[in-house]
Amino acid sequence: MRPANTPLQHVDDWDEFVAARYRQGKSEDEFRNYKSDANPTVTEFYRQNHSHQTLDFVLSKKAEYCSLNRGRKSIWEMADYLNTLVDDSDPDTDLTQIEHLLQTAEAIRKDGHPRWFILAGLVHDLGKVLCLYGEPQWAVVGDTFPVGCGYSDQIVFPEFFATNPDSGIPSYQTKYGVYQPHCGLDRVHLSFGHDEYIFQVTQQYLPEEAQYMLRYHSFYAAHRHGAYRHLMNQHDERMFDWVRKFNLYDLYSKGRERPKVQDILPYYQDLVSDFFPDEIAW
Ligand code: FE
Ligand code: FE
Repeated sequence: MRPANTPLQHVDDWDEFVAARYRQGKSEDEFRNYKSDANPTVTEFYRQNHSHQTLDFVLSKKAEYCSLNRGRKSIWEMADYLNTLVDDSDPDTDLTQIEHLLQTAEAIRKDGHPRWFILAGLVHDLGKVLCLYGEPQWAVVGDTFPVGCGYSDQIVFPEFFATNPDSGIPSYQTKYGVYQPHCGLDRVHLSFGHDEYIFQVTQQYLPEEAQYMLRYHSFYAAHRHGAYRHLMNQHDERMFDWVRKFNLYDLYSKGRERPKVQDILPYYQDLVSDFFPDEIAW
């Protein structure tokens, strides 16, 4: 049996739930019925995520990880390390972590997008190494949402916020909470997870559009449903066009052919070394 704070068989069960939620061709009504796509383990995962992600928790995790003091490694060393995250996945059908990254990047490449966009696809989920650092699933994956202000009803399973200690702090539950109107997302703390970590690790090497893709790719309430516009500034609004463009590849590249890793690896080795030094701080 898995420990109580490990409800998902595999962290990618969350990604699969999101992909099912936004299946292409789904009507708005079907979408609102997202609970039919969630099995009991996914539901339990959201219960934990929504009840434990407090402003204090996010600030403590940012202090712990965003100073990047876990040593220097290459992108490829980290990708190999992430590949050791197998949980109970089925090796015959489930993509490895590197395969998901390459599949996303390849779909972007086939559509003729710029190299930095392809690179964003390649690295976007490397932050899931937080699982290997010992973080619980609810602190690594899940839809992200602002903490320290009122919860949008556009977030899935909003009822689970009732057990979040921040729900009992009135100043955190107003529309703006601890923030100012249109202060810009850079000033807003989102629930902690693999998005924020990979953004912090890679930001100095990537153009801003790619930084937004990495940092906000799980912020579905905003990029899919238009929530939290009152905290975003005009620059965020423009940059979110890129986040939305990226999301299609993250969601819909799965299920394509398994990437032929050995054939495409040389292209990606060149790409990575064009943007990153041999080793970066993690
Ligand atoms: Fe992700
Ligand atoms: Fe992904």
